Amino acid sequence: MQVQQSTRGNGTHSAEVLVAGGGMAGIAAAVAAARAGADVLLVERGGTLGGVATAGLNCSFMGVDRSVIGGVLWEVLDRLASVGGSIEGLYTPFDPEAFKTVAMEMVADAGVRLLLHSWVVDAVVDGDTVTGVRFITKSGQREVRAGAVVDATGDGDIAAAAHAPFETGRPDGQPGQPMTVMLRMGNVDTSKLIAYIKANPDELYKNPLKCVLEENRDPPLFLFSGFFDLVRKGKEAGVLRTARESMGLQGLPNKGQVLVNATRVHGLSGIDADDLTRAEIEGRKQAKTVVEFLKKYMPGFDDAHLIDTAASIGVRETRRIKGLYMLTKEDILSERRFPDAIARNFFPMDNHGPADNPNSHSWTVLRAGGFYDIPYRCLLPQTLNGVLLAGRCISATHEAHASTRTMPCSLATGQAAGVAAALSARHGTRPADLDAGLLRKALIEQRVVL
Ligand SMILES: Cc1cc2nc3c(=O)[nH]c(=O)nc-3n(C[C@H](O)[C@H](O)[C@H](O)COP(=O)(O)OP(=O)(O)OC[C@H]3O[C@@H](n4cnc5c(N)ncnc54)[C@H](O)[C@@H]3O)c2cc1C
Repeated sequence: MQVQQSTRGNGTHSAEVLVAGGGMAGIAAAVAAARAGADVLLVERGGTLGGVATAGLNCSFMGVDRSVIGGVLWEVLDRLASVGGSIEGLYTPFDPEAFKTVAMEMVADAGVRLLLHSWVVDAVVDGDTVTGVRFITKSGQREVRAGAVVDATGDGDIAAAAHAPFETGRPDGQPGQPMTVMLRMGNVDTSKLIAYIKANPDELYKNPLKCVLEENRDPPLFLFSGFFDLVRKGKEAGVLRTARESMGLQGLPNKGQVLVNATRVHGLSGIDADDLTRAEIEGRKQAKTVVEFLKKYMPGFDDAHLIDTAASIGVRETRRIKGLYMLTKEDILSERRFPDAIARNFFPMDNHGPADNPNSHSWTVLRAGGFYDIPYRCLLPQTLNGVLLAGRCISATHEAHASTRTMPCSLATGQAAGVAAALSARHGTRPADLDAGLLRKALIEQRVVL
């Protein structure tokens, strides 16, 4: 693996395509743009790639179906499987350490220039066109001019800096989805946990999409959501102090490791440093009680230990940039087709409840075998040229975002944004003027299912 570094030194640099943010969307965008022939610079504020998947320890793809989402997702799955780093299924748990390596290798193999520890703080704008970004590093401020910019920051930082209109929160004015500190436990006797669930099926949600068990896999593939009785007992005893009445446990590929989704922090903003600080403090307080609860109450956890909590709290929802089209719940449920479709998804709208009803968790499902299209226009901010949206910040309503935010879908919109950016930069075309047919053809050549 030979990772290419960005041009050294402060001042102004250039790239055909600049991708900001190295989460799922940014990785896919950078790799896809480079494979489409562009000189690509990927700028990430952290020290690893993966975003919420690694720094947020959210290491499970929700909604894997190779007949619906292809392209970069297929390659990620194959590379993870080749190192024993995943158990593929509708939910595909993976080892976050394996993913860090896979992501770095993919970026390197594609010839992407990489710059870590670099925080994008502003957009360079000429009229209504984003022509580059400014970022700060330990060694000073830098500026990069680019033929096209992909905003894969999750929060739409670049589009917002360039004054693109955006929405946040719920239609009723409440803040968006809560944040969560994920944690990972080791040395769990998963056979005892599985036996408990088999003997107490009422402990779990009845929705088959929320509870999965495939014992014929090695290690077994399981996702259990609920544990209503145990959680109630733990809360009554004052051991468990979380803002929800259930929890999710998922088996990871490394034997005896379990991913725990149990904390919730409501009503705070993921784009406000003071709120984020409060959220980290509150989320970690809750996580401490979760560990104690698991060891005392959860079958199979008697000799378990905490491996780690996420380095950063997981942020589900912040800015949703308003694009030339805004995807809606109705589009998803009616499985609407668009002539400029650049990605597909089928996963339900998974919406954790608001602050005034923290236990509500809505789960709006498509019909079995159904899928919906995401039009290219969802990647194009209404008022701006030169910048494309990818991943969590694409143009979708609060409800639709609850489906498009998932990691397989973020890879898919990232790949589309990357290819579109490469084609725009190469042809000197505004992204909005790019022929959608040409883009779709280039995506299909990159094994995207359309
Ligand atoms: C707690 C939680 C549980 C979830 N569960 C699941 C699940 O089980 N399965 C699933 O598929 N999805 C799940 N999701 C959703 C999914 O993980 C995310 O929506 C998805 O990973 C978003 O990918 P992204 O690349 O758009 O954003 P991110 O992963 O947030 O990546 C953005 C990247 O940009 C970087 N960045 C941000 N701002 C800047 C800046 N200004 N300059 C430079 N770099 C910047 C960040 O460091 C990060 O690496 C969950 C989310 C959360 C929070």
